[in-house]
Amino acid sequence: MAATAMQFPMVIDGQRVESLSGERYEDRDPASDQVLALLPRANPADVDRAVEAATRAFNSKEWGGIAPAERGRLMLRLAQLIRANAEELARLESQDNGKPLRQARNDAQVAARYFEFYAGVADKIMGNTIPIGPGFLDYTIREPLGVSGHIVPWNYPIQITSRGVAPAVAAGNTCVVKPSSEAPLTAVRLGELAIDAGFPAGVINVVTGRGSEVGDYLVTHPGINQITFTGSVSTGQRVMELAARHVIPVQMELGGKSPNVVFADADLDLTVPAVANAIFQNAGQTCSAGSRLLVERRAHDEVVDRLRQRAQQMRLGPGIEDPDMGPMISRGQLQRVLEYIEIGKREGARVAVGGAQPDDPQLRRGYFIQPTVLDQARNEMRVAQDEIFGPVLTVIEFDDLEEAARIANQSEFGLVAGVWTRDINKALYLASRIKAGQVFVNTYGAGGGVELPFGGYKKSGFGREKGLEALAAYTQVKNVCVKFA
Ligand code: NAD
Repeated sequence: MAATAMQFPMVIDGQRVESLSGERYEDRDPASDQVLALLPRANPADVDRAVEAATRAFNSKEWGGIAPAERGRLMLRLAQLIRANAEELARLESQDNGKPLRQARNDAQVAARYFEFYAGVADKIMGNTIPIGPGFLDYTIREPLGVSGHIVPWNYPIQITSRGVAPAVAAGNTCVVKPSSEAPLTAVRLGELAIDAGFPAGVINVVTGRGSEVGDYLVTHPGINQITFTGSVSTGQRVMELAARHVIPVQMELGGKSPNVVFADADLDLTVPAVANAIFQNAGQTCSAGSRLLVERRAHDEVVDRLRQRAQQMRLGPGIEDPDMGPMISRGQLQRVLEYIEIGKREGARVAVGGAQPDDPQLRRGYFIQPTVLDQARNEMRVAQDEIFGPVLTVIEFDDLEEAARIANQSEFGLVAGVWTRDINKALYLASRIKAGQVFVNTYGAGGGVELPFGGYKKSGFGREKGLEALAAYTQVKNVCVKFA
């Protein structure tokens, strides 16, 4: 174990606490396989404490009884504290997840932006009056649900925690957050900063530990009124089944196999760097990664050649040294990606670049893999259908617009799509045909996109995060009908 392993608490009821059992677990640095931090290993009794604290807070004068604008003020204070501590948060995120420091810095800014955006919304969550005829006044109120549970994956912990918690508290709910055991550090720091910002005790709780040990318990807890889950399809299905047992709403943000569709008339100087970034950012461990490149046959050779050159120039290293690409999150994830590259080869795809772990012995200690392009793939192949969740771009050629639309939609996922062309008619036609929650034209991702509704079609999930649409998940509508003389 590294002598410098950091010690972290969890945050329950406005306090930094240990687990009731006193047990801790090891959180590893993916760049070196050393122990990075020790954290409380929560068990169901700790979940009880967190849910009880969140329930008390929801019913309290200090939270349930304050004006919506005051909730907004607290959120703005938290946003300011995130910005004031952005460098520390970015360094933690980079070490914990492995992502390049500049990307983690951006993630910290986007986290602050979530609290700012929804702070402005807190006092604008309005209902309607409904004209049903003389002698009636009918109106609706949008009320919070109560205690909102947030199950967060390891790939963008600070962004995804903020993406869920900010609209939840803006609407007046209280939260219990369970970050992934693989990268929990910034979620814990966010919980601590919420205390410093003056949030009443119990409004934002963060429980650390293993999903397999406390995840089921959290979802089935009778005190939980809503779940926001971000993660894999299989865990999401389990969470849905568990939530059904006590009939609570769930918001599901699941996986993707998003197509980036490049026509021969696209501006390749703009397109190729963005296509590369869409797959290699966060070492491909991004739900909205552009992991399927559909390229018009006439442009194929040039596009793949330019991608190969970019991939060869990318510098790999520990995130904290701000390389172009960091490691996979875990040894398991590394093995999975290597297996998929072998599957791709067996299926007949050709490795245009990458395809292996780097030779550098320093990098061999961590979970690094080269940026990889699998060329000459067919959309039926597993490497074109399964979410690999690594820096592996699968390239498929097409001849015309209709074929591009058909291949883009031949997927069980539908999270994001990109279209690259100078022809506005092609762009708009494809945007109308593609079955995905977000379509980008001549851009991809829009820098965090806090304001833009985000979520899946098909197995990519349901419900929308981000933008004003997210409020639907954290409010329930009450209709009041009054008859007067
Ligand atoms: P995962 O499903 O393994 O884990 C997600 C979370 O669920 C973790 O916090 C984990 O501890 C928890 N968990 C595990 N077992 C549980 C249980 N039985 N009950 C409740 N919770 C449990 O996913 P991951 O490997 O952390 O993340 C990668 C996946 O997440 C990919 O499929 C990716 O596409 C998806 N993802 C989606 C989005 C999105 O917004 N659509 C964003 C990021 C990641």
